[in-house]
Amino acid sequence: MAEPALIEETPAGLFCRRGGFYIDPWGKVDKAVITHAHADHARPGSCSYLASHEGRRILRSRLGPAAVIETLKYGEPALINGVRVSLHPAGHVLGSAQVRVEYQGEIWVISGDYKTEPDPTCTAFDPVRCHTFVTESTFGLPIYRWPQQQTIFDDINQWWLQCRDAGIPAVIFAYSLGKAQRLIAGVNAEIGPIYCHSSVEELNGEYRASGVALPPTFLVSQAPGRRNWAGVLLICPPGAAESSWMNRFSNASTAMASGWMLTRATRRWQSVDRGFPLSDHADWPGLLSAIEQTGAEQILVTHGHTEPMVRYLQEQGRKARTVVTRFAPETQTDPHPTADALSMAPAVAEDSAP
Ligand SMILES: [Zn+2]
Repeated sequence: MAEPALIEETPAGLFCRRGGFYIDPWGKVDKAVITHAHADHARPGSCSYLASHEGRRILRSRLGPAAVIETLKYGEPALINGVRVSLHPAGHVLGSAQVRVEYQGEIWVISGDYKTEPDPTCTAFDPVRCHTFVTESTFGLPIYRWPQQQTIFDDINQWWLQCRDAGIPAVIFAYSLGKAQRLIAGVNAEIGPIYCHSSVEELNGEYRASGVALPPTFLVSQAPGRRNWAGVLLICPPGAAESSWMNRFSNASTAMASGWMLTRATRRWQSVDRGFPLSDHADWPGLLSAIEQTGAEQILVTHGHTEPMVRYLQEQGRKARTVVTRFAPETQTDPHPTADALSMAPAVAEDSAP
């Protein structure tokens, strides 16, 4: 009988039997290696976690004070039951990591979510040579090609200025972890004050404490006397869109910051005034260049548009196939998994970007 693969697909997710650890397990396991702190990758309840040092504060805030979390600096190796494990920057959100697993000369890299564009709020994606590359494919269709990010930020600044001139607030929906901080770091903070929903502001604090420079931001709930929100940029999670919390900004112009806004194909966000296609995932050319740089003989594709990517790679003569993920169906239609899919409180699930 053939030896089992170094990384196996199991009902609890990707598993390294030789090392006795899972990577981003879907359930509670003994030892979990975590690519990043988004809720569809960092699930609570496991006995121990291994994650990047850069993202330690965020993961702690997500998993709670009782979680047993060990960390590695990027590139620092650890031996787990004879298997060499190291974490390498994925450029997705603060602390996001690709997991490199090596045993007897065979190397696998599990990308987690990644993007190839620079982002001042996290360490840049660093391609890692391997034999097998497990890549995400959230935006794995040729139609997904991101505009220059400076163009997107110019558009956001322009819209904010227009709101200020019209005497109304500018409300932008963005995932609490990662997207919100990238927005805050990227907009022109001289246009006006930036206010945040509590779930965003809490993570802003963790980012600052982790050494990421962000302009000043304020909590909406700390300005109870404020009647006039004219000219304010307000950043809140997508889950706040339909809540009564939004009533005080009834005259606002609204926007959504997400890669899905490139096509505005998601019905849920067709009612916002503006869509800015700012994504924390690689676009089609980004995915292809990342795959190329690994030099991998075998590419396993997971999360999102896997079939078109697999077909394309096979047409190029590559060995490729899909790896099923529990969260795939949600990513096709909606940028974040439902609370049901995650079996978690909506407050946490709402801001998890797949
Ligand atoms: Zn993510």
